[in-house]
Amino acid sequence: MDDRRIAAVMVDVAADGTDKPFDYLIPKELVTEVTVGSRVKVPFGPRKRIGYVIDFPARAQIDRLRPILEVMDLTPPLTPELVRLARWMAQVYLCPLITVLQAMVPAVLKGNYRRFLRLGPAFSGEDLLPEAEARLIRLLREREELTLEEAIGLEGVTQPLIRRMVDDGRLVMEERVGDRTTRKRRTWVVPSQPAAILRNEAESLPKNAARQRDVLHHFATRPEEIPLQELLADLKAPRSAVDRLVEKGLLRRMEKEEFRDPFGGRSFARTQPLPLTPEQDQAFQSILRPLQAGEHRTLLLHGVTGSGKTEIYLQAITETLNSGRQAIVLVPEISLTPQMVRRFKGRFGDEVAVLHSGLSKGERFDEWRKIRSGDVRVAIGARSAIFAPFPRLGLVVIDEEHESSYKQEEQPRYHAREVARWRCREHGAVLVLGTATPSVESYFWARTGRFEWVTLNERVLGRSFPQVEVVDMREELKEGNRSIFSSPLRESLEACVDRGEQAVLFLNRRGFSTFVLCRECGETVQCPHCDISLTYHRTNQTLRCHYCGYASGVPRECPSCDSSHIRYFGTGTQRVEEELARLMPGLRVIRMDVDTTGRKGAHERLLSAFGEGEADVLLGTQMIAKGLDFPRVTLVGVIAADTMLHLPDFRAAERTFQLLTQVGGRAGRHEKPGRVVVQTYSPGHYSIRLAAGHEAETFYRQECLIRKRHRYPPFCRLFTLLLSHPDRGGLMTAAHRAAQFLMPRLPEGGEVLGPVPAPIPRIKDRYRIQIMIKYEDHTDEPTDLVEAMRQLKAGLKDPELRIGIDREGVSLPFDGYR
Ligand code: ADP
Ligand code: ZN
Ligand code: ZN
Repeated sequence: MDDRRIAAVMVDVAADGTDKPFDYLIPKELVTEVTVGSRVKVPFGPRKRIGYVIDFPARAQIDRLRPILEVMDLTPPLTPELVRLARWMAQVYLCPLITVLQAMVPAVLKGNYRRFLRLGPAFSGEDLLPEAEARLIRLLREREELTLEEAIGLEGVTQPLIRRMVDDGRLVMEERVGDRTTRKRRTWVVPSQPAAILRNEAESLPKNAARQRDVLHHFATRPEEIPLQELLADLKAPRSAVDRLVEKGLLRRMEKEEFRDPFGGRSFARTQPLPLTPEQDQAFQSILRPLQAGEHRTLLLHGVTGSGKTEIYLQAITETLNSGRQAIVLVPEISLTPQMVRRFKGRFGDEVAVLHSGLSKGERFDEWRKIRSGDVRVAIGARSAIFAPFPRLGLVVIDEEHESSYKQEEQPRYHAREVARWRCREHGAVLVLGTATPSVESYFWARTGRFEWVTLNERVLGRSFPQVEVVDMREELKEGNRSIFSSPLRESLEACVDRGEQAVLFLNRRGFSTFVLCRECGETVQCPHCDISLTYHRTNQTLRCHYCGYASGVPRECPSCDSSHIRYFGTGTQRVEEELARLMPGLRVIRMDVDTTGRKGAHERLLSAFGEGEADVLLGTQMIAKGLDFPRVTLVGVIAADTMLHLPDFRAAERTFQLLTQVGGRAGRHEKPGRVVVQTYSPGHYSIRLAAGHEAETFYRQECLIRKRHRYPPFCRLFTLLLSHPDRGGLMTAAHRAAQFLMPRLPEGGEVLGPVPAPIPRIKDRYRIQIMIKYEDHTDEPTDLVEAMRQLKAGLKDPELRIGIDREGVSLPFDGYR
């Protein structure tokens, strides 16, 4: 240990040229504290920054090293394994290492940098000073210190003025680094004298000090510590009573760190493992075998909705815990519902940490700390829970593995499935990919033997699949029905409500107009900065751009032809709701979309209202498509099945198939038989036809053929480069140059497609061009290609040009990542 004198630190400055570690001296007194994964405070230029220790080099890059100033946590937030993972991710996702390291820790640890001002040594009185300076100095006298922002908020005080005052020594500026939110503390009270003395003191108190006497009597019989709030509430005593006793030296206050509990001490009814069906047991055994042998395996658990996958996860986790290891369960954010959480809390109680975006930063931090400290052994959460710092990972479950939300769309642009695979290899752990509708890639890997493949074809307790009816909307139109609702859907809905049952109506968010359309010239109102229609928000009567945030009032006249024949389309769900009210007056509808679920807890509230029968219809977007389980739902209506088919995305058919299958799974989960009505303008499309017929196998085979023919993943890999620039001409030149640079550096069989305008050709006044690179699926990393991209990025001279690089076609096996 003692020979560790130098630490390589990744410093929190994400500028070009700093994506490399800097060496720092480890002061003697910190030697035992600094390890790989420690978060440290270091000097960087004239400032102090946070950094992560990633290595202990034997020799330094330069002679005179500066020392590490401080180790910021008692337990390092990262483990050596996670640091290794970060290095791998930085390489394959072409992203600065510090960005990856920070993505792995809770937001509160990212640190904030605040600058404080104090009066300096050269300060000599405030007479004869200009007004602004005098004001600043007066306030500093009063408060001793101000943050830089507070100072600049004062009238007349500017940054240059402060700089001048710092330069001539009248002010001192100090930068401090701290955590974003402090750990939550709570005040506790304990007696500092034995019971006999407390009793004596109580007797000698004056008559009017009854509350103090109560407090002393309390501690005389129960000398253990108690939270101050609780004590005051129990005894109905004022805080001053305790204050007085503390002053007299009879009691002592103490601060204790506390975990916020997002479930507010709610208890969950404990559940016992269910006896597995033969099919379930077979699946369970294929997880159990490698788990007990400590061998890495990836297993695709392809089971129809309601086939009991979750019960299998629960029992596999029990085995994992029994063997002294830990488990991570990933679920898509939107299916991290109270129902789901209850199932895990019900089986594992306090052993579970739940990580989702509905928690405050502090709550998330606390859940994470339980993982880091070993207090819990199961983590359930959305994408980033894959970084849960467990030391002996035994099992990772990715539920609904086909979900696109497992891919992060900002740096680091990782896919949780790939990261999971890396970690499971490292730990000799089992990775279970569970879904009713696998991604085409996972299906293919399972069929060709890279993943193990287990299927569950029956619904538990022999419940039947719903009957699916596909309605051709073109026929409806021919017959003069211009409503959003076809007659079959309308009739089924009426019948369902008449029987006292419930219906779910599903609308694909992307498919429905939320724009303003001119009926004279057909133009939609566009964002002035982006090539995209503005979205109409009915609640506050504005038009907004979802890309840049631009907002305007709703125009009375068409901006391009001045016609007043303008039509506002509300959000799709609002339109459907209006139409329902018109067709079936008195129908009780709960609408779930971004507008109604914005507030914290709204999602949960609406769902439980529906579950308790307060409405006949649940109407919503994607967010109702999965995970929900309501016994009284016997009808599912899909308003427009094909809206997604026309997106410029090679996964369009896959997504349509998955969505229809998932939505259909919501009907008839219980005793009552279910029915699904799918409205579409393309009833013949194979994704719609095969989803309606429950013909998954046929769909996947056909989709694989198409992918192979057009050379898309899993039959090749993709890199997508997105270049943007405020000047169209400059962008075109740069894009062509980039393509030419890459062409000769491609691996064998590689091809460059483009440059072509991106699907949204302009955002925030920047033009966008895309280049796609397809290359062969060899088992090892395309190191040369990644290196070429690095060079390309490094060689960019134009400061206005930005380039984003994304790996599409993720979910690759990466057998050769080392
Ligand atoms: P999936 O995750 O595949 O959609 P679930 O695990 O949610 O399926 O199971 C569907 C329903 O069947 C749940 O209500 C669950 O409690 C129940 N269930 C699962 N396995 C069994 C079993 N072996 N015996 C009885 N009920 C079961
Ligand atoms: Zn815009
Ligand atoms: Zn017009």
